[in-house]
Amino acid sequence: MEQRPPLTLEDLGWSDAFAAAFEPHALPGMVAARVIRESRGVYGVSTGERDLPAAASGRLWHGEDGGGQPAVGDWVAVRLPTLPEEPGLIRAILPRKSKFSRKAAGLRTDEQVVAANIDTIFVVTGLDHDYSPRRIERYLTATSESGADPVLVLNKADLDEELEEHVREVEGIALGVPFHVISAKAGTGLDALATYLQRGKTVGVLGSSGVGKSTLINRLLGSAVQRTGSVRASDDRGRHTTTHRELFLLPGGGLVLDTPGMRELQLWEADEGLGTTFADIEELAAECRFNDCGHNGEPGCAVEAAVESGQLDPERLESWRKLQREMEQTRARQDGLAKLREKQRVKTITKAHDRFRPRG
Ligand code: GDP
Ligand code: ZN
Repeated sequence: MEQRPPLTLEDLGWSDAFAAAFEPHALPGMVAARVIRESRGVYGVSTGERDLPAAASGRLWHGEDGGGQPAVGDWVAVRLPTLPEEPGLIRAILPRKSKFSRKAAGLRTDEQVVAANIDTIFVVTGLDHDYSPRRIERYLTATSESGADPVLVLNKADLDEELEEHVREVEGIALGVPFHVISAKAGTGLDALATYLQRGKTVGVLGSSGVGKSTLINRLLGSAVQRTGSVRASDDRGRHTTTHRELFLLPGGGLVLDTPGMRELQLWEADEGLGTTFADIEELAAECRFNDCGHNGEPGCAVEAAVESGQLDPERLESWRKLQREMEQTRARQDGLAKLREKQRVKTITKAHDRFRPRG
């Protein structure tokens, strides 16, 4: 048995704002808890004092966040079970201070929240052959809508023979986002990350496969903690499934959130984010002759002039264009979905109508 003093809600990131939001739900038998894992609709929640399994109520209170299910990191109001072997019941999701969303898989483009209430998001990238400024831009864009503060973590510094050049390049891309050069494997540069990992602060980890996210998390957790120690749980069909924690408490008091959904992402309505990450392009665009300049051969285009003069990296403009196209596609999909729904609605009405039409 692990010996440790019982945790408090504050250790898990509880704040006055959440306390105020919980107040109307603070009825007898109800407790505030944080979602620490999710697996196929089965949740694990923690009150600090105790962890328990929980299911989402059919009638879930959402506050101002709209629909959807609880996500890892969410603060929720839970009805405690009367019998110890029963799961708790999540009755409400408290308003999120940040959220990370992606497009739901498949045809539907509905928003799916994959992580909530993250303070800082580590955007991890490798300084090895995998190094790509364009990918860094994409990830930064994806974080800017979340409400969490992005921090760039440049990993595998031990493999980088052009470190100085890369650091200079990243300075040009990051535009004020703090970045840290580390080697998760060698354990160098990690001290700088401690400021984001204070008690009650939640860090999310984002980045392509193979950049060293697991290695970094294991480092932060310290060798004493067995991160992959999975617990056996039964799903509702009685099968045994392996679930694992997705919100980890670090020895120093911070929390790391690592969900499969966060690890890979697709852009979700990052319109605003485009402006933030490509602030230099937006600034130049303000000088274009036409308000709706596409920076594609239009006369008096300040953006293309900047490329000509060497002030703007042409690749940067290209990656801005690519992102615009992707968002265009997302919007088109959303429009298509809306049309499809309208069509189905009309069909249903017409069908209902048909039933009452006299046969002739
Ligand atoms: P993830 O997919 O992002 O979780 O990446 P992993 O943590 O599984 O790491 C992928 C590979 O990169 C593994 O072989 C790690 O040992 C290696 N790796 C991670 N961090 C470093 C580092 O700082 N330096 C070097 N040389 N290799 C690293
Ligand atoms: Zn232009």
